[in-house]
Amino acid sequence: MRIINFIKAFLLIDFMKAFYLAQKYFFRSKATINYPFERGKLSPRFRGEHALRRYPSGEERCIGCKLCEAVCPAQAITIETEPRQDGTRRTTRYDIDMVKCIYCGLCEESCPVDAIVEGPNFEFATETRKELYYTKEKLLDNGDRWESAISENLKLDAKYR
Ligand code: SF4
Ligand code: SF4
Repeated sequence: MRIINFIKAFLLIDFMKAFYLAQKYFFRSKATINYPFERGKLSPRFRGEHALRRYPSGEERCIGCKLCEAVCPAQAITIETEPRQDGTRRTTRYDIDMVKCIYCGLCEESCPVDAIVEGPNFEFATETRKELYYTKEKLLDNGDRWESAISENLKLDAKYR
């Protein structure tokens, strides 16, 4: 009889503990979100899909210095350049193999003119391998599409650079 009473008391304590925990978490805000209808906050340093930026005049920022290509540890970037008639140098080819990329952010850090950046977009899954071979046109298009968010993030992060 003593043992049965002991077991009952033990179960009651467990029940009270579980009840307390349930009450505690019932009134707390949810830790999960209903993605894709709800979205979490991203850091300004978030390293998502790459983009090539332009100046407000529409001119490409990239000066074809190839620092990003040299620094890329995954050898994901391929650049070819040519001088223009005005004496400046611009890329004729700027490819990133997004399958090779490890999203280290070194290309962005090395760029002297903030041309190549990793933007806030993380929804760029594709059905084929080929679609993840980004060309200059695709990267410039990304830059045009995400410029306002990218420049805002760069401004927020500037004091830590
Ligand atoms: S994020 Fe890193 S791995 Fe990806 S392209 Fe830039 S330097 Fe290369
Ligand atoms: S993106 Fe930046 S680092 Fe890369 S070639 Fe252009 S200017 Fe140089």
